[in-house]
Amino acid sequence: MNTFEEFESEVRGYCRSFPTVFSSAKGAWMTDTAGERYLDFFAGAGVLNYGHNPDKIKQALLGYLMRDGITHTLDMYSQAKQRFIERFNEVILQPRGLHYKFQFPGPTGTNAVEAALKLARKVTGREQVVGFTNAFHGMTLGALAVTGNSFKRAGAGVPLGHTASVPFDGYLGQDVDTLNYFEAMLHDSGSGMDKPAAVIVETVQAEGGVNVASVEWLQRLRQITAEHDIVLIVDDIQVGCGRTGSFFSFEEAGIVPDIVTLSKSLSGYGLPLALVLIRPELDQWAPGEHNGTFRGHCPAFVTATAALTFWEDGRLQQAVARKGQTVQRRLERMAKKLAPDARVRGRGLIWGIEFSDTALASRVSKACFERGLIIETAGIDDQVLKILPSLTISEDELQHGLDVIEDSLSAVLNGTDGATSAEANALAEAA
Ligand SMILES: *Cc1c(COP(=O)(O)O)cnc(C)c1O
Repeated sequence: MNTFEEFESEVRGYCRSFPTVFSSAKGAWMTDTAGERYLDFFAGAGVLNYGHNPDKIKQALLGYLMRDGITHTLDMYSQAKQRFIERFNEVILQPRGLHYKFQFPGPTGTNAVEAALKLARKVTGREQVVGFTNAFHGMTLGALAVTGNSFKRAGAGVPLGHTASVPFDGYLGQDVDTLNYFEAMLHDSGSGMDKPAAVIVETVQAEGGVNVASVEWLQRLRQITAEHDIVLIVDDIQVGCGRTGSFFSFEEAGIVPDIVTLSKSLSGYGLPLALVLIRPELDQWAPGEHNGTFRGHCPAFVTATAALTFWEDGRLQQAVARKGQTVQRRLERMAKKLAPDARVRGRGLIWGIEFSDTALASRVSKACFERGLIIETAGIDDQVLKILPSLTISEDELQHGLDVIEDSLSAVLNGTDGATSAEANALAEAA
């Protein structure tokens, strides 16, 4: 039994899929204590959009630490925060014609979601928040209440209330516009749905199985929420910061949310940092009404500011578009050849391949790990293999990872993957 199994709580999760001890990482590669190298197609669930330890961000961080730049200020003013706010405005918001106030909640995604929900309820004076089927917004009670997964919800141990779940785009098949249902519920005072304070949505449901909302659906959702004076919150924690190509995932739809939550790749370096962007009229917080000890971590502001250099020109966005096409083309070819009833979907550099045999994705992930590739599954039954490399991965590394997926999928389908032979051995021994 290792240290982790002996002392770390049973709640530990990802280590069960990738059971080795990692010690260093660079770019798209992770190295374990035995010196084995793994290509990373998981990127910390979207934390590492610029790869592991990117040099230009690391230099900024090291420089800041070496000159005793301040690390912690609660939410007192710091030069690091000032620079971040100014650069984020210059590089991200102003060129897109966006105007938002900045709230720095505690440093995790779920902190940002809690703050957004609280503010929407306060501003509107309404209690209900609408979320979508298969949504994922975090593990604290407010965020969990708008999360779909019944296993995670049950973990709350108390009723999760003041929310309603409505069908996401595509939930009822491609021919049904699920917003017809939502809009009818809003219009009918007999629907049993109280008028919501807010709607919270992911443009691509990453944890929920790489479900992609169409541009038209997002535009209509913006229109409906505006008409009914409902706060529209886009949770861009996983698919913001360039994951879909543009900095914000909603840019393609041309919509302007009332509130945007960001975290995961915001610091660009894996340091915890979260941000709630608030339409100025909605910024009705009283001083200190929502607080937290780690509201904006100065070293994370420094790395987040350095990460903005990736957005000073269009090169990263173009690279994501190009690499996304590579992934789509190869996954579609792979599906056609090996698993014709599998469905491939995604945007930018988040892709999923959903198998009708729900056990397949986990077996492929395991076979990939045995071949030196870190790749996760998503969806309620882990039925989707989720391709989430860093945005800065090279074309060769990307092709290599896709080769490993193809080999692993063949092995699993042929029953020659490690999993089945181990299972076969166990069966043989038991017999
Ligand atoms: C990861 C994630 C969260 C929660 O972030 P944590 O840092 O784990 O609290 C919320 N929303 C989305 C869309 C996420 O992907």
